[in-house]
Amino acid sequence: NSQFRPLTDEMAPFLARSYRAGPLVAFDLEDQGADHHDVICPWDHQRTVGRVRWTSADETSRAIETAWKAFPDWNDTPVEERAAILERFADLMETHMAELMAMCCMEGGKLLTDGVAEVREAVDFCRYYAARAREVFMAPTVLPGPTGESNELIMQGKGVFATISPWNFPIAIFCGQTVAAAVTGNTVLAKPAEQTSLIAHRVIELLYDAGMPREVVQLLPGDGATVGAVLSSDRRITGVAFTGSTQTAQLINRSLAARDNAALPTLVAETGGLNAMIVDSTALPEQVVKDVVASSYQSAGQRCSALRVLYIQEDIAERVIETLKGAMAELNIGDPTQLATDVGPVIDEEARKGLQAHIDRLKSEGRLIAETEIDPATAASGTFIAPTAFRIDGIDALETEQFGPVLHVATFRASEIDEVIDTINERGYGLTFGVHSRNETFANRVARRIRVGNVYVNRNIIGAVVGVQPFGGQGFSGTGPKAGGPHYLLRFANEKTRTINTAALGG
Ligand code: NAD
Repeated sequence: NSQFRPLTDEMAPFLARSYRAGPLVAFDLEDQGADHHDVICPWDHQRTVGRVRWTSADETSRAIETAWKAFPDWNDTPVEERAAILERFADLMETHMAELMAMCCMEGGKLLTDGVAEVREAVDFCRYYAARAREVFMAPTVLPGPTGESNELIMQGKGVFATISPWNFPIAIFCGQTVAAAVTGNTVLAKPAEQTSLIAHRVIELLYDAGMPREVVQLLPGDGATVGAVLSSDRRITGVAFTGSTQTAQLINRSLAARDNAALPTLVAETGGLNAMIVDSTALPEQVVKDVVASSYQSAGQRCSALRVLYIQEDIAERVIETLKGAMAELNIGDPTQLATDVGPVIDEEARKGLQAHIDRLKSEGRLIAETEIDPATAASGTFIAPTAFRIDGIDALETEQFGPVLHVATFRASEIDEVIDTINERGYGLTFGVHSRNETFANRVARRIRVGNVYVNRNIIGAVVGVQPFGGQGFSGTGPKAGGPHYLLRFANEKTRTINTAALGG
């Protein structure tokens, strides 16, 4: 942890600063006065972090028009130039690491370790997509053809993309979606989550500093029901890259499909999960618990990849649960700027209330296994939820994803393993999944049969590593292709063939 000490010193001025944010568009804004929102620090409700002006529906519509005007020239800009902007942007984010981390802490409630990982992932996305764009877009693919004819396959942008992002990775996912759409030749309307508008504003300022033209990427902070709804119902939108809850993705999908006289849209959706792990009786309880705690409680359980349902084979269940209780008792909950803190706040009061209602219901049914103690003063200072573990009968008992530090535990007999796999598959969420077993045949069979995007064997379930573990689900959990993977950019591009009668060239 000592490596973080200089960083916390560097962060100090930014932790104290008050930020302002609003739309960043390529036309003159009239000051519409009304729609301003104070941003309150999730772990210290006495602190106002800044103020945001949300974009109106009318401004959103004008931004779409501006984006269309800018599209032909941007699509014709050499990919080398577009990729170079991403690389300069990555360098700038690294230079501004302390400030971006401070903002992650203050607005997003993130721990220092999460803040570092967040900026690193955004930087990796930029460099990876810049490199992939050069590989795929730079030179046309030459196709075979008869003498006197040249055939080529060219990749170009599709048009105007909306990128709609969640608050839980306010830099990494927000940047990843936005730069992927832009580097492939599209112009972009970036809508960050309501809860993390200040971070998004600062990040887009850095993107402009890196040379991105203002009309190519415009920032539209605002609420889903206004800005988001206009972006997914306007017939001029070519595609939406969305990351967020399954329910919102379904709304956007319906809204895109209901547009009159609109070209068929592209929807790239990365959504929620009900992620499970199966532990058989050969697994090592200490290793299992280490990985379970990391996955379920890190980032206060606010990762789409986080483990929600732990299935333990009956014979080993008691040992795993006792070890889990011990590990949960060790967790420190509190101020995310403190190096000793393991679990920070959840994002806001609405999230806290929803989780608390779920926890109260399971407690009233007598299902509590363990709950980490939380200091009452800490609990009162912000939107904290103590890590909990509950006994449930199986994944079917859960209606929706609970996006916080709540783990559900079920047990199974060895003879029931296929039933467990079928139940998880039929539940329909297919994001992440883990298996812990020292029996290789068992682990491989389970990993093969489970229908999810990312499988982890004998380790924690923890999400994306750009270029190494590209990330994304299936079923209720997303459309693919995987973010940070070799095929992601292709969804943002049109393939065009160019056939030339070469004999007629040159007079
Ligand atoms: P959310 O669905 O509430 O919001 C996501 C975005 O959609 C926000 O910008 C929001 O303003 C916008 N939105 C809301 N209503 C809209 C509408 N009607 N039309 C258009 N846009 C609208 O999700 P959230 O609470 O910000 O994020 C948490 C969720 O994101 C969790 O479900 C989590 O699992 C998921 N997530 C998934 C991944 C992944 O890679 N699969 C990654 C991170 C988060």
